[in-house]
Amino acid sequence: MAAAQAGEVPRDGDSTWPRPSKCRVIAVANQKGGVGKTTTSVNIAAALSMHGQRVLVVDLDPQGNASTALATEHRGDVKDVYQVLVDDIPMADIVKPVPDMPNLYCAPATIDLAGAEIELVSLVAREARLRRALAAYDVVDLDYIVIDCPPSLGLLTVNALVAADEVMIPIQCEYYALEGLGMLLRNVDLIKAHLNPTLQLSTIVLTMYDGRTRLASQVADEVRAHFGDTVLNTVIPRSVRLSEAPSYGQSVMTYDPGSSGAMAYMDAAREIAHRAATLA
Ligand code: ADP
Ligand code: MG
Repeated sequence: MAAAQAGEVPRDGDSTWPRPSKCRVIAVANQKGGVGKTTTSVNIAAALSMHGQRVLVVDLDPQGNASTALATEHRGDVKDVYQVLVDDIPMADIVKPVPDMPNLYCAPATIDLAGAEIELVSLVAREARLRRALAAYDVVDLDYIVIDCPPSLGLLTVNALVAADEVMIPIQCEYYALEGLGMLLRNVDLIKAHLNPTLQLSTIVLTMYDGRTRLASQVADEVRAHFGDTVLNTVIPRSVRLSEAPSYGQSVMTYDPGSSGAMAYMDAAREIAHRAATLA
């Protein structure tokens, strides 16, 4: 723990990472599409699960990309997060083990979830449906719940932020990276003030970093100047392997463990696991 507190992360001989004292619920949010929310959710979750952590990914995007990447059926009449949120079925009825990945589980999203933004509006406790479902779910054995949010700030993302302890924001190292971030941060503050006082912005991860461009390093510098230690030291590079893996129903951790993307997400997950000790 001394190493973790000093901000150093042990690199070798650590095939099992420290388990958090209680399940950490992390919402991966950014209302922009295509910034790496799903890629980050899936690969961080896979990396954690490969180091002795029991991890559930909740797919909260009607497109179901996280479900696809985790080889979890999300077409036809499978039970999904929509039914948990709108029809009050138990979380346990929809959670599936991810094939070939011991310790990793997925709560899939079908396209039905697209209707939830509107249908939730008229329901009781509409902002807290996911929180309630997770509270009723037996999470004692889980170390992490990673919620992959849709690209909007609607009721689905609000449900994620109300259910979570932590927010993780992926920021793409591109033009306009910071545009719209203020609105997301204001939403986090509003939810903290009114619905979930213990929510904290714990992690910012820089994604799709292209080391050949000055722009990428300028964006990274700007984000670090603004958010300090909240930003992971590890930066996720552009890696075509990351974009190929989902079509094989795999995380990059198994699809190509030696690729730069896999190694970066492994380092990022290690930082997250060891940071738990320093979170308030
Ligand atoms: P979001 O969930 O925020 O919409 P995704 O994770 O789906 O974003 O990423 C958007 C697209 O970019 C996807 O096609 C994904 O495969 C690709 N992608 C994500 N991260 C990287 C990366 N580091 N390098 C290359 N492609 C990436
Ligand atoms: Mg996504």
